[in-house]
Amino acid sequence: CGIVGYVGKEQAAPILLDGLQRLEYRGYDSAGVAVFGPAGLQVKKSKGRLQVLKDLTHDGADLPGNLGIGHTRWATHGEPNDVNAHPQVSRSGRIAVVHNGIIENFSELKGQLLHKGYQFKSETDTEVVAQLLDYYFSQCGDMVEAVRRMLNAVEGAYALGIVSADAPDRLIAARKDAPLLLGYGEGESFIASDVTAIIRHTRDISYMEDGEMAVLTRDGITVYNEQGQPVTKKHHHVDWDI
Ligand code: GLU
Repeated sequence: CGIVGYVGKEQAAPILLDGLQRLEYRGYDSAGVAVFGPAGLQVKKSKGRLQVLKDLTHDGADLPGNLGIGHTRWATHGEPNDVNAHPQVSRSGRIAVVHNGIIENFSELKGQLLHKGYQFKSETDTEVVAQLLDYYFSQCGDMVEAVRRMLNAVEGAYALGIVSADAPDRLIAARKDAPLLLGYGEGESFIASDVTAIIRHTRDISYMEDGEMAVLTRDGITVYNEQGQPVTKKHHHVDWDI
């Protein structure tokens, strides 16, 4: 129900946990984070309040790294439990996905992936996104292209945040019929469902449009339309206080 993502020079985990805290008002049943750092891609998630996740990660200190995504879940497919919490992870363990919304054709896609030998750990619609990315990445070897192919395959509503150990300098985001905005900082970039999650860090934002995909690095953000062409985003300055 809430997404936050960070790539930059600071430790990602405390920024993600703080952002999730500020999205708490949206309601949720579980929470999780994925951080890429010296130990590779690490995922921690849990049913229940954010405090459970904070305790589990020692307020993020257990997850060193400058790139990550966080999520608070409002379950639609699969009961609220630790396994169904996001991030959902691919079979390789190298791709982590957070998602708000519903993938309408997930059971059809799941059937195709099962046929290819994929196994599923969770009952979520979101896990098909992680496993599809694994499949397409194994085919094309390029994470942005894998995301493009995945977006062509899925139907439904989504705000997505994706990190991969195979593209460890970037965060990839996509949106259709679910809110997601981009935050531009000095040597850092953000995604969030709501500006309250990142306003402590930047007031320079743009709103993703339906069908857009964004590639974020610490040096900036490139946004592509559904046809894969780069688009110029209108920036907004947030001048109110929280
Ligand atoms: N449909 C997804 C799930 O049930 C995402 C729910 C949400 O928007 O938080 O896991």
